[in-house]
Amino acid sequence: MEAGAHANLIESKLNKKRDCLAKRQRLNKPNDFRQRLKLKCRKPITLPLMAACLIALSFASPYEGATQLSKREAQQAPSIREVNSVARPDGHRPVAIVGATLIDGRGGAALPDSVVIVSGERIVAVGRRSSVRLPTDAEVVDAKGLTLLPGLIDAHFHIDGDESLPAVFLTHGVTSVRDPGQWSEEYEAARKAAAPIPRLFLTGPHFDSPPPAFPQDSIIVRDAEEARSAVKRFADEGASAFKVYFRLPLGLIKVVVETAHARGLPVTSHLEIVNAADAIRAGVDGVEHVTSFGTALLSWREAEKYRQAVLADNNARREGRYRVWSGVDLDSPRARTLFDLLVERGTFISPTLAVFERRADDKQTTEMHVLGFKKMLDFVGRARRRGARIVVGSHSAVPHAERGWAYQRELELLVESGLTPMQAIVAGTMENARFFRIAERLGSIETGKLADIVLVEGDPLKNIGAMRRVKRVMLNGRWIVTSAEGK
Ligand SMILES: [Zn+2]
Ligand SMILES: [Zn+2]
Repeated sequence: MEAGAHANLIESKLNKKRDCLAKRQRLNKPNDFRQRLKLKCRKPITLPLMAACLIALSFASPYEGATQLSKREAQQAPSIREVNSVARPDGHRPVAIVGATLIDGRGGAALPDSVVIVSGERIVAVGRRSSVRLPTDAEVVDAKGLTLLPGLIDAHFHIDGDESLPAVFLTHGVTSVRDPGQWSEEYEAARKAAAPIPRLFLTGPHFDSPPPAFPQDSIIVRDAEEARSAVKRFADEGASAFKVYFRLPLGLIKVVVETAHARGLPVTSHLEIVNAADAIRAGVDGVEHVTSFGTALLSWREAEKYRQAVLADNNARREGRYRVWSGVDLDSPRARTLFDLLVERGTFISPTLAVFERRADDKQTTEMHVLGFKKMLDFVGRARRRGARIVVGSHSAVPHAERGWAYQRELELLVESGLTPMQAIVAGTMENARFFRIAERLGSIETGKLADIVLVEGDPLKNIGAMRRVKRVMLNGRWIVTSAEGK
């Protein structure tokens, strides 16, 4: 079988398995049983389907490890929740969004002239206009000319003292954000402010070793015991993931992973000078920043030179990473091994391309920077074509986007790297929901899921730039935006 087709087959198998898992988790919750009765959502999701899911899950395929969530873990894993309580709609009238082209987040063909019905905070019906009956009391929204998508999920958001930024992101269609390394106190002002904000997934500060690159955003752990106790404390406070930073030695990364996994929480990583293949084998679920893969693409000797330079001075990475990337060979056996490992382990890659973007006419930019960035784009496109799992992380503030539009810039760069617009949208919705472990209730437009919805003008499948023309945003069944000015 041709490599691309093979990768697609693996991917569709994996996705089916994951969605089964998500459905099963949904079923396990008693209040959802009630919900299901209410929604009449319904016979198909009953014992036969559960049995089918279990059978599908029990196939010991070589890709079993790819979900990084064993059957046992999945059963025990708590559903990961946002730290903020998100308001429900006030009224009792259902909302019918009629006539939009639907991109449901799962990667299938778009559905023209669709109907999506929302009741309370849930999506209760999805389909063609001809096949869905509108409730008589529904508030009908004419969405002709618009594209309806799941609320966007951002895996790499930083508040950086800009307290109103989460609210701005929400008006641009980003309904869930995760800050991979910050004390929860930094979000207090944003949470207290009047403006609604996205679902907030916090992790606590990232884990680093002395001297940390960002002292204020990190916790220093010096041995296994410190690592274990920090994970447990942040988990008790509601952390939804953990991020290990590049000075943390491999042995401590392992301890963080084991302790986090025991609590059903994923670990993501900013590696830079830790070999990515080593970290993936140590069990990290995600890798933040395409630059995290640099040392795994170099010869051992070259990698060690860069590593020592950064260990001597954290700031050496700023220029150093472009030098590293301008010289990497993406056709090398080393690169091939890394791609294979990423696919085999199902590691989530949050490339945050936009924060590294360098173009020829940028300030203080040489050919070396431009070439380095080009190779970063190339790496992401190749990884995706091979079947690696890409998600969207905006990094909040990036050189080539105005305030509030970093997420859209990242989508555009993912398309430039070689993803189709549909793949970029899936990366920002359902794939990110899987990374967050919230896919049983968010990430797609499906009956029974929470109503986080964005409507944009035009067709983002033709031009991903349409994702900037946000017209309506719904969070948890409530309209946040009904006619935003896009960019
Ligand atoms: Zn980082
Ligand atoms: Zn970051």
